Amino acid sequence: MTTRSPSTRRRNGNDPAATAALERPREVAAAVEAWFARAGRTLPWREVRTGYTALVSEFMLQQTQVSRVVPKFEEFMRRFPTVAALAAADEQAVLAAWQGLGYYRRARLLHAAAKAIVERFGGRVPETVDDLVTLPGVGRYTAGSIASIAFGQRVPIVDTNVARVLLRVAGREGASGDPAIVAWAWDEATRLVEAASDPARLNEGLMELGATVCPASTPACLLCPLAALCRARANGEVGPVRAKPTPTRRTRVYHHVVVVRRGDELLLERRASTGLWASMWQAPTVEHDSLLDVDELAPRLALRVTGLSRVREFEHQTSHRTVVFVVHEARTRSRDGTWAARAALAEYPLSNPMRRILADALTPPSPNRPVRARSS
Ligand code: SF4
Repeated sequence: MTTRSPSTRRRNGNDPAATAALERPREVAAAVEAWFARAGRTLPWREVRTGYTALVSEFMLQQTQVSRVVPKFEEFMRRFPTVAALAAADEQAVLAAWQGLGYYRRARLLHAAAKAIVERFGGRVPETVDDLVTLPGVGRYTAGSIASIAFGQRVPIVDTNVARVLLRVAGREGASGDPAIVAWAWDEATRLVEAASDPARLNEGLMELGATVCPASTPACLLCPLAALCRARANGEVGPVRAKPTPTRRTRVYHHVVVVRRGDELLLERRASTGLWASMWQAPTVEHDSLLDVDELAPRLALRVTGLSRVREFEHQTSHRTVVFVVHEARTRSRDGTWAARAALAEYPLSNPMRRILADALTPPSPNRPVRARSS
């Protein structure tokens, strides 16, 4: 990484010659395609490429690392092997199969997309970008990815990985989320895919290159198929490419969780159908913007309990807030509500922190067991 002067930055940002490397789109495309054919990772959704495997993998890969997606993808495909099977599934079953991937809104959108495909496209994933973008949760990038990878359509794709590679090859400055840079990147990606011999291989190659060889912080230029064409490398200007600025203000909320056991069973309730972890299950929980003590918490519970005591607390970060889980234990004589046996817990969609809380509640105490949970 080198430090650049302001004058250098201005020159790179405004100089039309900065895109010169991309003026040879055929060379760039050929280098990426050859590299991907040789070095692309073996991933389950690449073994059999269909519209459905592309759809599911694209939804899963949004905001989740490949290593976490691989086992979940295989499990999900076993459970819902076709668009029709997914469309016909109960939402709770879909959310349960999504557990571990986070960002559950994607699971709901994928489910809605499957229903739309059955209703409007006869159960076949549409092949064109124009049709694909009409599906819930499918934007221009996802549509381009499915259309090119599954159906060989000559259409471009740009995500932050692709934008970063293009910026560096062109020697341009800018944040990869800047609208002007995004528009420029789509234009360049279009020129590349038009010059490619295999649009699918080019697009997957660009994504893979950005994810593995040319990440934001430590590009491995010695391994890069574009090293000889890359202006940033030639100029010794391989610095970090800024992502879109993210808001720094985080809200802090307190989830006062009350674990109520009855033998091998735990009392559960369902969350509201909107908002964080919508429609998922949890131990009875009171949400508040400040920490409640036991006397303040008890009257806010929907059930009568005895022996309410605080056990521990830990923090969980979501995209916009810090959730402080304050875990309690209690007893109840009531038999009302939903009681889930240990063996049936996997059937209930649970957030990751809630799954951990319940797993801990069912684990026999050990002298070595930590008193406080890790933050996640
Ligand atoms: S040569 Fe280096 S900076 Fe340029 S595209 Fe390749 S890895 Fe990225």
